[in-house]
Amino acid sequence: MNTGELLLRHARVDERVQHLGAEIERLEAALASNPRLEQARARLEEARSAQREAAQRLRESEREVEGHRARMRDRDRELMSGRIHNPTELTKLSTEVQHMKERLSVEEDAELELMEEVEARDEAVRRAELEAQRVQAESDASAPELRGQLEKARLDLVEAEAERATVWADIPAPARALYERVRVRPPVAEVAGTACGACRVGITSGGLQQLRRGELVRCDNCGRILVLG
Ligand SMILES: [Zn+2]
Repeated sequence: MNTGELLLRHARVDERVQHLGAEIERLEAALASNPRLEQARARLEEARSAQREAAQRLRESEREVEGHRARMRDRDRELMSGRIHNPTELTKLSTEVQHMKERLSVEEDAELELMEEVEARDEAVRRAELEAQRVQAESDASAPELRGQLEKARLDLVEAEAERATVWADIPAPARALYERVRVRPPVAEVAGTACGACRVGITSGGLQQLRRGELVRCDNCGRILVLG
């Protein structure tokens, strides 16, 4: 393998090392946390909190309506008892009982609406529970596969790093020094026709002659080390 080929191979293996490193990070993050599961749990918690809040409002309303109902019955009983003979007082009490009944009817309607709301929120909690269970089951099922992929990526990384070191050791020192000066990634480009294969800018005839003589040439435009294919 000539120097150009070695440089090209190093650049490719180096890219593979970077890629595997990113892949390992991604798999480790996926195993450590599952955003979809966290979202499903957060939604379940929200649904439960809304359910508790509605149930609390219903209990308060029930207590209040029950109190009003008891008072209305007391007043009604008094009205029907025959103990009150004064017509003005009777009319006043009758009007009062009538108002109480009207208010109770409105309150009972509101209570029914609250009951429906509580039922709807119960249902929302059941749905959120099922969704959380489903996402949890999916997450459990995918964990062994993720662990398998992670193990393979780690082995591949060890292999790629070893190959990168071996190739590097074979590259002559001046070429290594040149390679290290190139900042753009990948630092090596194959020649495509008479142009740089990476940035597509043409190579001067002088540059092409140097390349054919086996000299190291960098692209005038992007700075990559050029290698004849
Ligand atoms: Zn170029």
